[in-house]
Amino acid sequence: TDYLTGLANRSKLTEIFCRERAHAQRNQSPLALVYLDIDHFKQINDRFGHEAGDQALRHFASVLSQRLRTTDLLCRLGGEEFAALLPNTDAEQAAAIAEALRERLASTPMMVDGAPVQMTLSAGVATFGQDGERLDELMNAADKRTYAAKRAGRNQVVSAEASVPA
Ligand code: GH3
Ligand code: MG
Ligand code: MG
Repeated sequence: TDYLTGLANRSKLTEIFCRERAHAQRNQSPLALVYLDIDHFKQINDRFGHEAGDQALRHFASVLSQRLRTTDLLCRLGGEEFAALLPNTDAEQAAAIAEALRERLASTPMMVDGAPVQMTLSAGVATFGQDGERLDELMNAADKRTYAAKRAGRNQVVSAEASVPA
């Protein structure tokens, strides 16, 4: 468990991924991974201090957790980077969920010293099978799409359909 947010950490994700992959293969069910990176997080630290930065990470975790199913796993990979593992979810559904998370965060400001501060995220979607079979392959694909979302202006989701094959 990640001490700051209470979310799963990276090693927990690795463990749960193995279980969910076995389930997906056995049942021919879809499995998606969404990579999520907070936009301009360094500015929050720089403008409001490291405390507010930590508060922002907890805010992010709490807002996103509220929108996910109990079977979904939201995990903090480190720093201001997160991943959501979504069982029984195909690429199209995962893109819709990521979009809902993006909207929810953008419309739920955190309060710093009584003033609202808006946070946004950029996200990339990858799916088991289409983007590979190993966690590192899915992470890699989702991370690349997150980077594409950053380049395209941030506060957006890039999914498998929208990305250009390498
Ligand atoms: P981008 O929109 O391109 O993602 O920009 P960014 O500022 O979010 O990304 P960048 O990788 O440049 O900066 C991430 C910052 O996150 C740098 C570091 O100070 C901060 N950070 C990482 N871990 C923690 C933490 O646990 N607490 C706090 N308060 N800040 C953290
Ligand atoms: Mg980052
Ligand atoms: Mg960032």
